[in-house]
Amino acid sequence: MAQITLYDTASHRNVLLEDFDAGGVAVQANQHVILDGEEAIILDPGGHKVYSRVLSATLGLLGRGKLTQIFLSHQDPDIVAAVNGWLMSTDATAHVSSLWTRFVPHFGLDRLVEGRLLPIPDEGKTIRVGKTELVAIPAHFLHSPGNFHLYDPTAKILYSGDLGASLGISYREVSDFDAHLPSMEGFHRRYMASRRAMQAWVRRVRELPIDVLAPQHGALFRGPALIGRFLDWCEQLECGVDLLA
Ligand code: FE
Repeated sequence: MAQITLYDTASHRNVLLEDFDAGGVAVQANQHVILDGEEAIILDPGGHKVYSRVLSATLGLLGRGKLTQIFLSHQDPDIVAAVNGWLMSTDATAHVSSLWTRFVPHFGLDRLVEGRLLPIPDEGKTIRVGKTELVAIPAHFLHSPGNFHLYDPTAKILYSGDLGASLGISYREVSDFDAHLPSMEGFHRRYMASRRAMQAWVRRVRELPIDVLAPQHGALFRGPALIGRFLDWCEQLECGVDLLA
């Protein structure tokens, strides 16, 4: 099981847990862990098929540290289905859009831990891990009505959830944007709500210094040229309700 370090200093480390393939027809998903000092956060930890493997890999990364936070970009099963296990086996606090805090418990949240599922208000919030204030950035309707990305200002990584997802590829990083497009196009046209939502998001994230844009499925984008191409593409993409006849 590969652990890819995306950013590494003495006190701050960003790790991609790669190839936790759920197997069969389940969509490939990336799990990310950010460690700062003695604390850590896991992003979109996933469902039951990957739970035990992702949990043991995460605990292995922690050393003397503690998992203190769990970030849930939205309510989909490949993000939250195993959140009860994560809350039962750690002391971490989970964060999800306020639109979903009353729905996620239907995945089977034990009464003992339901108080540790906290809402993210529509405008977003910061989540502290060690000395870093991570920022939950609104990305509503991309694709969920209550949807957030997580920005790490220390590593300059934007974790973009389903936005930027690519399917059916085997490389880890995008090198040729045009060749990569077919693996994103169908998914974004159908799953993203509208061009207006895309444009609002692009306006917001263009202001951020971003070295890496890391989606929850498929390959990541590194560097201003590729990230710029991706933002330009999002800005003009007709999707969702735009395509209703
Ligand atoms: Fe999703």
